[in-house]
Amino acid sequence: TRTLAQADPDIWSAIQKEDVRQEQHIELIASENYASPAVMEAQGTQLTNKYAEGYPGKRYYGGCEFVDVVEQLAIDRLKALFGAEAANVQPNSGSQANQGVYMAVLKPGDTVLGMSLAEGGHLTHGASVNASGKLYDFKAYGLDADEALDYGRVEALAAEHKPKLIVAGASAYALRIDFERMARIARDNNALFMVDIAHYAGLVAGGAYPNPVPHADFVTSTTHKSLRGPRGGVIMMKAEYEKAINSAIFPGIQGGPLMHVIAAKAVAFKEAQQPEFKTYAEQVVKNAQVMAETLVKRGLRIVSGRTESHVMLIDLRAKQITGKEAEAVLGDAHITVNKNAIPNDPEKPFVTSGIRVGTPAITTRGFKEAESELTANLIADVLDNPRDADNIAAVRAKVHALTTRLPVYR
Ligand code: PLP
Repeated sequence: TRTLAQADPDIWSAIQKEDVRQEQHIELIASENYASPAVMEAQGTQLTNKYAEGYPGKRYYGGCEFVDVVEQLAIDRLKALFGAEAANVQPNSGSQANQGVYMAVLKPGDTVLGMSLAEGGHLTHGASVNASGKLYDFKAYGLDADEALDYGRVEALAAEHKPKLIVAGASAYALRIDFERMARIARDNNALFMVDIAHYAGLVAGGAYPNPVPHADFVTSTTHKSLRGPRGGVIMMKAEYEKAINSAIFPGIQGGPLMHVIAAKAVAFKEAQQPEFKTYAEQVVKNAQVMAETLVKRGLRIVSGRTESHVMLIDLRAKQITGKEAEAVLGDAHITVNKNAIPNDPEKPFVTSGIRVGTPAITTRGFKEAESELTANLIADVLDNPRDADNIAAVRAKVHALTTRLPVYR
């Protein structure tokens, strides 16, 4: 038995460099986080060897008695965490969780409402380049004049098109979504209601963002963003849809479940049930709010004016810099963000006029309000003088001091 370093030095070396990058950079990609050593340990176990098509107690393979324990614990913990009637923990990703719900309740050509990708929605909510947009007839809603979710537009689209399903949830929307109101619109128009909480799941679990589970027929999520588990997806549903969802995931769109990942999901759900997780979730929002206020003081505009979650979109136009260039120069200063279109963005999608910033990862590594304020000031320092190498180097030195003081895994 050789170690990874001995067996494959090329891969080992790249992993070591990635480890150093994660330690040394301030990670502000809103969809990323640092999974705990326990989560990563579960994912690195012998469970990766096991085929377990089917569900606990009803498998198509022998030898499943121990992986059954693992999957049942994951299901039970997820249900308890969010108050769900039923749950499927097998989706390999957030995209497959969403595809699973669509498979279960839609036929090709059915009408669905979803939030536009350009105004904060996700690819799997009907973007034309995604299978969701190719298979189903998605009608997009977006933001109103105040850059809040346009509930009036959702109402009007629902009345006009009588969709089979309404999808709520977003990848770049900073405010609280009124799930009760969305559910009422669905009910009034005989539509099913699905919420994709991929981005907000950790906040919901920690009580820092509204929980859509009581209001929705289906709630999908990733497990690796604010929820801080391994990469993967889940579906929660009303009990009446359990059978349809389970069949849609397996044998509908997936084969054997990733039992090592399901074990890591179970560990993450247990972590999310602890009191410290509530403190983390609340701190994520506090950190985001401090960053937003600081960036506004420094002359930047926040889309929607503020954040009520872990994420915000920064409108860069006042600083005469594109999202693409800002992502690159901030990266040089060891601050990792992603470019992101803002509403009515004059730039092309690969250039953009905005960046998206989120606080789950920095909160996990121990940043509080003071460090968040400093981080926002460092971002503004870079953007005030983005083509000055000495300025970038000075910021990078301050980033290095901060990340050394608050390491991730050491
Ligand atoms: N749903 C939303 C709202 C997301 O933001 C994302 C990820 O970016 C997904 C689904 C898809 O997750 P995955 O990348 O695991 O397919």
